[in-house]
Amino acid sequence: MFNEIDPILYPDKPAEECGIFGIYAPGLDVARLTYYGLFALQHRGQESAGIAVADGGGIELRKGMGLVPEVFACHSLDSFSGFAAIGHVRYATTGSSQPLNAQPLVFRYAKGMLGLSHNGNLTNVADLSIQLASTGSVFQSTTDSEVLVNLIARYNTNSIEEALMKCMIDVKGAYSLLIMTEDTLYAARDPHGFRPLCLGRLGEGYVVASESCALTTVGATFIRDLEPGEILRIDRSGVNSTQGLKAPRPAHCIFEYIYFARPDSTMDGYNVNKVRREMGRQLAQEYLVDADIVIPVPDSGTAAARGYAEEAGIAFEEGLMKNRYIGRTFIQPTQQMRELGVQIKLNPIREVLEGKRVVMVDDSIVRGTTSQKLVTMLREAGAKEVHMVISSPPVLRSCYYGIDTSDEKELIAAKMSQDEICQSIEADGLHYLSLEGLLQIFAPKEECFCTACFDGNYPVEVPKTNKKAKNSLE
Ligand code: SF4
Repeated sequence: MFNEIDPILYPDKPAEECGIFGIYAPGLDVARLTYYGLFALQHRGQESAGIAVADGGGIELRKGMGLVPEVFACHSLDSFSGFAAIGHVRYATTGSSQPLNAQPLVFRYAKGMLGLSHNGNLTNVADLSIQLASTGSVFQSTTDSEVLVNLIARYNTNSIEEALMKCMIDVKGAYSLLIMTEDTLYAARDPHGFRPLCLGRLGEGYVVASESCALTTVGATFIRDLEPGEILRIDRSGVNSTQGLKAPRPAHCIFEYIYFARPDSTMDGYNVNKVRREMGRQLAQEYLVDADIVIPVPDSGTAAARGYAEEAGIAFEEGLMKNRYIGRTFIQPTQQMRELGVQIKLNPIREVLEGKRVVMVDDSIVRGTTSQKLVTMLREAGAKEVHMVISSPPVLRSCYYGIDTSDEKELIAAKMSQDEICQSIEADGLHYLSLEGLLQIFAPKEECFCTACFDGNYPVEVPKTNKKAKNSLE
């Protein structure tokens, strides 16, 4: 799973923008456990990583640019002790990738120290930052997360919970948050629950993480997902829950299941691997190809390809071999290297493909450049026919809630018909899973998901300009 979602090696894929992990566990090595938790969430962000530890008398922060092991090869975990910690892994688009934007953010304010880790994007950050700046706020970074810190510090007259409840009224968009004072850990999910966040138990302590795979990695037991708008306070008295603002219906990001999340994670009641397999089955019911073998684009297409093969009664084969040992530092993000990216990462197996009519299952097509290279690669390895089937609907709109799906003008499905895309990627056939088919998998909770990048039904108003909200502070 390591480095599966690498925006350099897979420039055609959407990119998740953060993973967060928090722990309150007196007596345990909270810094090291956070390190392992972040390592399990590495697929959610590879640009920077950081850990902040609270010991009751202050908060110490260590963070840097790079993958978790790279950052903490320099910043030792020794003598980094306390009883609570928060961590963060971040992916950023070009221009936002700078050390100041690495998280957690740690500030000193009127009531002491405050650390914050944020996953998601605020959609009204431009307005909020102007309002805050006009009344004296200064910003160190260009992340929307700093707007949250400023608001929390302003509103914290009685408690962090009260401050967060007020923030939920002002702040629009997606945010799963971890906040740490010198002695308490807080976790909160936005009123729609866009980004995942779950709670687990570890001995006498507690763990909160973006995905359940991080809980199991550190030996914690999954307790439950946070509700949309819920705020947790975790301290020596245990876990206290407060319900903040809640939207009329949740809008969990459906793309987490299609591509971002690890297959071993279960979010809001649905196991990712199981959902992907069902997507493949549904796809085969909608579009049955007369073919010899079904192959996945590894790894995110694997479960759907298995589902497709089972439902279609066609042999499942591994036709593309993935090099799992390429780290992000292996290549530089130049255009030339981007072109090479797919070839470096995936190699066709001629002995599997030669003379075969192949169904290739991928999770999504965003810009279309990778798909065309993969089709060519299979033909060069001897495939007689290459049919591309995609386990999600066409991506037509940009995401403003924490996923980098590219600007709309770069989305191939927003510019071309399905036949035109099929021609441009040089496939013998192309089929996408229908939105109805996708939602059917989540029945009877199909109303609880955001599908805006497929149908334009944005649950929260998006900025009027085409420029993504995340860059509004830049
Ligand atoms: Fe997820 Fe798409 Fe909604 Fe963004 S627009 S939150 S990627 S479903």
